[in-house]
Amino acid sequence: MSNLSYVSQNEGPWATYLEQIERVAPYLDGLQDYVDTLKRPKRALIVDVPIVMDDGTIRHFEGYRVQHNLSRGPGKGGIRYHPDVDLNEVMALSAWMTIKTAVVNLPFGGAKGGIRVDPRQLSPRELERLTRRYTSEISHIIGPQKDIPAPDVGTNPNVMGWIMDTYSSGQGHTVTGVVTGKPVHLGGSLGRIKATGRGVFITGQQVAEKIKLPLDGAKIAVQGFGNVGSEAAYLFADSKSIIVTIQDHTGTIFNPEGIDLAALKTHMETHQGVGGFAGAQVISDEEFWNVEMDILIPAALESQITVERAQKLTAKLVLEGANGPTFPEADDVLVQRGITVVPDVICNAGGVTVSYFEWVQDMSSYFWSEEEINERLDKLMIQAINDVWHKSSEKECTLRTAAFILGCERILKARKERGIFPG
Ligand code: NAD
Repeated sequence: MSNLSYVSQNEGPWATYLEQIERVAPYLDGLQDYVDTLKRPKRALIVDVPIVMDDGTIRHFEGYRVQHNLSRGPGKGGIRYHPDVDLNEVMALSAWMTIKTAVVNLPFGGAKGGIRVDPRQLSPRELERLTRRYTSEISHIIGPQKDIPAPDVGTNPNVMGWIMDTYSSGQGHTVTGVVTGKPVHLGGSLGRIKATGRGVFITGQQVAEKIKLPLDGAKIAVQGFGNVGSEAAYLFADSKSIIVTIQDHTGTIFNPEGIDLAALKTHMETHQGVGGFAGAQVISDEEFWNVEMDILIPAALESQITVERAQKLTAKLVLEGANGPTFPEADDVLVQRGITVVPDVICNAGGVTVSYFEWVQDMSSYFWSEEEINERLDKLMIQAINDVWHKSSEKECTLRTAAFILGCERILKARKERGIFPG
């Protein structure tokens, strides 16, 4: 047990993460003394973010930045704007970043931030004020060599631009490397926006081949049609897979013949989500989990695949685009039912990988072409998913446990070699 006084160990995404660490611990020979390092964040900052609203009133929002582990390098992880954000969630997301950067072998630790807010309820000016005040409150712990934020649910390249500008104002010079996922003309990287979805596709393609599941004609269900879910869906559709159902915060749409993604894209330009799309029928949010499918891509929020949903799922393959979508008990059900899960810490690592490329480009002020980015991304992701696959065969464990073994070994070896100050 982590014995932390400030967050519950028994519920929420942090409990899911702790259970995953319990499951990997027996495999970490020789590093047992250091496992507790993973059960607590190095640093957790909670900030008050007051802003003047457009009507002149003052509102206070709760903001967080958690640096879970910095043993292998600066913290790396997104910033989430969502009404459900709390310390428990941000801690879990930061911890999954620690594991993820290690699985892909990037020279980073893990961090995450967020504000408890519904960004859709704010005007663009209020959103900018919120972002700038939050940045100023966390600016003493972020920086290109300390901790580098990026977009997550509810944030985007514009928000990253404001963070970069606010941080730079405090430093007296432009510091592009303080965030990734920026607009390209502000030091962002080509290929970053599509990178996470691309990584979901690449890892999915590799594993589908190993379990002999042809993508041509495969029926796919996608939960979340934002940055990650939409890009993954386009790439699978390009491989002749059929997207039969999509769910987002506006509802669930279903078409057994396949949803026309080009038409859906046009619909999304004028609507807030998939709800109201004419080319599909509406089904209930719970029916989504019963649809006949070969591949499920959860790409929305955590804690979605419960035991009950896992019991009725018809998919053969689950590709975790979202962070933490599966409860540990549901994971057991999926294993018993022979359903292969490509875990979040490798499946959605494409985004942080291109964020790493962006940071490297910012540091050297030399920028690569999109072909170069995609080539390097594909190579790294294929290498990482194959390493995870081989570890899973060698240890006779799930892909999740195998990914955690690879990641935790790298993190704890670094911790051990650095030693515990002051010794
Ligand atoms: P996004 O804000 O672009 O999209 C989120 C999607 O989830 C939207 O379609 C939204 O409608 C949907 N959604 C929200 N609440 C929902 C609900 N209750 N039920 C169903 N759908 C709901 O966010 P994103 O960047 O695509 O991130 C999605 C997931 O992928 C998150 O778990 C995030 O942490 C993870 N992720 C994102 C990145 C990245 O680079 N953006 C990288 C790694 C992991």
